[in-house]
Amino acid sequence: MQQERDIGLYLHVPLCRQRCHFCAFYLEIATPARIDAYLSALERELALYRQQNLLAGRAFQSIYFGGGTPTVIPGLRLAALLGHIRNIYTVAPDAEVTVEAHPSTVTLADLRALAKSGFNRVSLGAESMAPQDFIPIGRPGTVSETEQAVEHARTAGFSNINLDLMYGLPGQSLVSWTTTVQSLLQLNPTHISCYALTVEDDTKLAHDIARGLVPAPDEVLQVEMEAAAETVLTQAGFTRYEVSNYARPGYACRHNLLYWTDGDYLGLGPSAQSYVAGCRFGNIAHLDTYTSQLERNQLPVTDRQRLSVEDQRRDALIFGLRLLNGVPNSLLADEPGHRKILAKLLAKGLIIQDGSRTRLTPLGRRFADSVASDLF
Ligand code: SF4
Repeated sequence: MQQERDIGLYLHVPLCRQRCHFCAFYLEIATPARIDAYLSALERELALYRQQNLLAGRAFQSIYFGGGTPTVIPGLRLAALLGHIRNIYTVAPDAEVTVEAHPSTVTLADLRALAKSGFNRVSLGAESMAPQDFIPIGRPGTVSETEQAVEHARTAGFSNINLDLMYGLPGQSLVSWTTTVQSLLQLNPTHISCYALTVEDDTKLAHDIARGLVPAPDEVLQVEMEAAAETVLTQAGFTRYEVSNYARPGYACRHNLLYWTDGDYLGLGPSAQSYVAGCRFGNIAHLDTYTSQLERNQLPVTDRQRLSVEDQRRDALIFGLRLLNGVPNSLLADEPGHRKILAKLLAKGLIIQDGSRTRLTPLGRRFADSVASDLF
């Protein structure tokens, strides 16, 4: 009998207090009315999928509230939502349940309510530990709010805490970045994500760079920063398990691993993406349309694509190569043309094969997309 694939639930909250200068995500500014509209629509969406029995009783191994900023919704309401999900779906007893939070949006009372209701992982957007880094990227809040949020999360009972960082920020030097990573370690998180700043079209950051008000990211410096983070974090006992992610032993993010290990996930909320039983589908990226469609009991899905077996293999390869331990060799095409390409990539030092797996080298990670398409 074929083994059932793990499945996770992703809830996208497209609401924030304000837009950061680098952010190109679809989002709306959080207001009480939008929060109410979003939550009622989300309950309808949960109910519709429950009626359709899409999951056929499969248990969620993980639940992830992402955004946006889920914690613009008060802790008690998020707790009630999680309770509702547990009432109508099957959730594995040991499921990982994550909430993303901006440090300045959560109080100790919120975090207590979240922990009490079953959230067992919190992911805080620290971004930097140097206050001057926040100004050019328009990231609200202070470093002391990050420190306090971590302390409150721990007091509330969270033992699994992720902190997000960004590097290559305007004005950030290799020294200040290394100091940020070291300062973050003082907060004793179990997981750290380090993302390179990218400049997206039509953001305030892109306009500020075009007008010469802010320097553009220096890609060479970003490569040095990536290497410095790896050195500092691995020396501190973290394992780099994915291009941007580091964890203490046993704390790799189980939900995000679904994306990189060809697992299934059902995504709800405006702009959320799903991958269930070989079918990819995505929701409309517009809160008002999302809510009005659900008021008419229609799922707000805008695109749906059934993947062929070959397409599924390609996607598993592309996403799987982001993992530091790579992909099983069974995902690689086994015919003479491809064996030649493989030999070339090995000779160029872009990939390594050991035992039954193929993985990118540090050089290969810089050209990950083209290596993946060569391998396919
Ligand atoms: S908090 Fe995150 S989602 Fe919200 S605007 Fe800033 S970067 Fe974008």
